[in-house]
This record gives sequence, structure tokens and C-alpha cells, in this order.
Amino acid sequence: MERQPCRNKPAGAARDSRSRSRSRSPYEPDYNRGENRGENRGENRGGGNAGNAPPKRDSSPVPIDLDRQCNFCNKEVESKALMEAHVRQRHLEMAFICRLCETGNIHYEPDLPSIKDHLREDHGKDDLDNEDVKDYTRYPRSLMCIKCNLCGLLCHGQKEEDLELHFKVFHEEAHFSTQHLDFLCRICMISGQNDSLNELKDHLYNSHPDEVK
Ligand SMILES: [Zn+2]
Ligand SMILES: [Zn+2]
Ligand SMILES: [Zn+2]
Ligand SMILES: [Zn+2]
Repeated sequence: MERQPCRNKPAGAARDSRSRSRSRSPYEPDYNRGENRGENRGENRGGGNAGNAPPKRDSSPVPIDLDRQCNFCNKEVESKALMEAHVRQRHLEMAFICRLCETGNIHYEPDLPSIKDHLREDHGKDDLDNEDVKDYTRYPRSLMCIKCNLCGLLCHGQKEEDLELHFKVFHEEAHFSTQHLDFLCRICMISGQNDSLNELKDHLYNSHPDEVK
């Protein structure tokens, strides 16, 4: 049912390797999960879910299913299928929007490389230059992305504090530190470029002066 004409996996997202089912989580965002975590929530938990390693409990951190972590607010969304609706409802101003699709269903992507792919593949724009991309795309309010290096979660337009919460929930054993974070420019989406938010800001001002208003 989720119709997305193109794959929008951000570069380097370590998604596939981590989709083990999670049996419990201390993090109960918006949803009224109440006490009945685990068992009687009918979803395809445990059942159809790829035969990965059995859920570990004691020694290991809370397993994280990146497909269900919103990249814009870090909340856990019920299912991967519901993620698109969630993003459409809440986060379109933080996504890259295709202007060429805007008559129908709004098409969004999390980063510039992805929207370029979309322009190429779905609109036949083969030799894009930067000006074209700007014409065809509505840019998000923030061009900054913070990535958790421990699990690969990408957090678009979020703050370090948001990641701190993520650490409390999923990486309790690790001390929160910016050393575990990567600061990505959403235009370049290259890992390992910036060690701090300030470096990322410098990068944006120096490399993309026209995009930073
Ligand atoms: Zn969200
Ligand atoms: Zn489009
Ligand atoms: Zn993480
Ligand atoms: Zn950049």
C-alpha cells in the first residue's frame, strides 16, 4: 500500500541488517501501549519477521528497528507502512519536496541525493545542474542531519538533545557523547565530514551559501 515510486534510502543507512523484531521497549512515545507490550499486540511481530537472531534480553541493548524510527522526530511509529503517513502529517516542512509532483501526491525525500534520484528516474531529468535542482525542489527548513554512529539512525533537522534521548533509550550502556555522532549535510549526505554541529554549520555556509538563507 505504501506507494513510493523510488527507494529513498539515505546513503549509508544501515537498515536492513537491523530489522530484528523488538519485544519490549521502555520508550512509549505517542502510542498507548499500556502494559501489554510484547505478546498480545497482533502485529507481525515475531511471526513473519525474518529469521534473524533471537531477541536478546539481558546483556544487549534494546534492539532498534530503524524502519520504525521516524528520522524527523525519533518517535517510534507503529509500522514501517505507517511511517509515510506519519511523515506526511508532521514533517513535510523538514523534507525535500519535489515541485514537479506537486499537483498530485506530494513526493518527499529525506535528502538531496535522494530527490535528485527521484528527479532523474521519475521525471527524466538526466543532466541536472544545481540550479535545476533548486527549481525543482523545495528545500527543508534545516539542512542538518545528525547520525547516531552506534545504530545508524539518521535524524534530520533534529538537535543533539534529541539524540541524547535516543541514547538513553537505545544505548543505555554507552555514554552519550558527540563522539558517537556524525553531523551530515543533507545536501551532500557524506559521512565522516563533520565532527560537530559547528563544523557542519561552517560547511553549510562555506559550501552551500545559496541554500543557507
Ligand atoms: Zn516523526
Ligand atoms: Zn517528483
Ligand atoms: Zn543509535
Ligand atoms: Zn554539503
